[in-house]
Amino acid sequence: METLNCRSVIENPCTMCMPMGGILPFKGVAQSMVILHGSQGCATYMRRHIAEHFNEPIDVASSSLNEKGTVYGGEKNLKSGLDNLLKLYNPSLIGVLTTCLAETIGEDTDMITAQYLQERGLTDFPIVTVPTPGYGGSDFEGYWLAAKRIISALACKTKKHGKINVIIPNISPADIREIKRILLLMKTDFTLFPDFSDTLDSAFVRPYQKIPNGGTEKDDISAMPGAAATVQLSLTVTDTNSPGIYLEREFGIPLYNLPIPTGIGNTDLFINALKEITGAEIPPVLHQERGRLLDCMIDSHKYNFAGRSVIFGDPELVYAVTKTCIENGIFPVVVATGGKASNLKRLLQPHLVECPIETQILSETDFAQIRVKSMETGANIAIGHSDGRYLTEKEGIPLVRIGFPIHDRVGGQRLLSVGYTGTAIFLDRLTNTLLENKYKNYRRSMYEKHYQEKKAGERHGLQQFL
Ligand code: SF4
Repeated sequence: METLNCRSVIENPCTMCMPMGGILPFKGVAQSMVILHGSQGCATYMRRHIAEHFNEPIDVASSSLNEKGTVYGGEKNLKSGLDNLLKLYNPSLIGVLTTCLAETIGEDTDMITAQYLQERGLTDFPIVTVPTPGYGGSDFEGYWLAAKRIISALACKTKKHGKINVIIPNISPADIREIKRILLLMKTDFTLFPDFSDTLDSAFVRPYQKIPNGGTEKDDISAMPGAAATVQLSLTVTDTNSPGIYLEREFGIPLYNLPIPTGIGNTDLFINALKEITGAEIPPVLHQERGRLLDCMIDSHKYNFAGRSVIFGDPELVYAVTKTCIENGIFPVVVATGGKASNLKRLLQPHLVECPIETQILSETDFAQIRVKSMETGANIAIGHSDGRYLTEKEGIPLVRIGFPIHDRVGGQRLLSVGYTGTAIFLDRLTNTLLENKYKNYRRSMYEKHYQEKKAGERHGLQQFL
């Protein structure tokens, strides 16, 4: 296993910028809104990417910093932005995220928002600030930092109520719904945060709602310190950004840090943790779903062994997908993330030892390097977000889309890949992509051979008359 670290020049990055990830946990809080302190362009770029992934209108306000605000400070812009936001949306919570520009000119959003609430007589209104300069990290870091800041701003010491906190990474709304279904099957009383399963995948309703229904209730987040345990689906988040570690250190809530339940091993870990916490028996329906997944694995293994995968995206997803590939005989030849992912190599090492092929693990990388390594290692299937289409365009490596963002296809919000059922659906997508590629290339080589023989025959025939 070889690990390659960051490059000094990034060409075609393998990550989104930090505030884009920071917006998502706010979309998972009931009746909440976000304002970006920075230029209009940042907000437009992020709205566009998020809207294309979820296929929903995405409202994100902007303080519209211009040249004047940049030179003299953006306090006035941010305050009037907050006024407009309150007037137009009447939210119950506001997130203030910074951008490159606001951080570079040293805007103190904590001070500005505290002053604002004082001036407007709104001292009880929750405003959560998150410092997210684009150069400060990836969307992965932005997501987790925002999730932690929301919990730490709202959490209050509460009486024990026995619910379980379930903190989820940036997965699809369909995945969140599947996790909630499993929690209900395991008879778990839970608070899931951030819950954007409805807000970012809404049913069509009239009249249009400026803030869609759904999301974790503010009161439920405040009561998270009274839970019996926290199940956090992220092994790769840093201790500083981890909401689960925050709840453990501040309020003594036992933490079960688990991977995304994609793959049979990871789903077993999730369900067994629920069994341990609640004492509930695993219901027959989950045993049945597990059995079906095993059957699916047996059916597809004879095709999957030919797979050489390049896996990229945020470190948490990359970890779960790599494990799933190994379980199913697809050899991961390149595992890449645009973020820092300092523990990714350590986490993957025990699973990679049995792979007969060396795996290149790239962190803080870009698509230029991923492309080179994919060609060197003979990758024949790419697994990750839409930016990997570059590998298809340039090298003909087919792409199975998963993760964020998926902006060149519809249905990113409906992609299911967690739990036994979601894993089986995901595995079918992988196997069918390998099969499609095999048949395409097999036929092409067959036709090429036929064409060459025909040409040779024609040349031979012609020579007889010369
Ligand atoms: S990288 Fe910085 S300037 Fe670019 S969109 Fe993100 S926050 Fe804005």
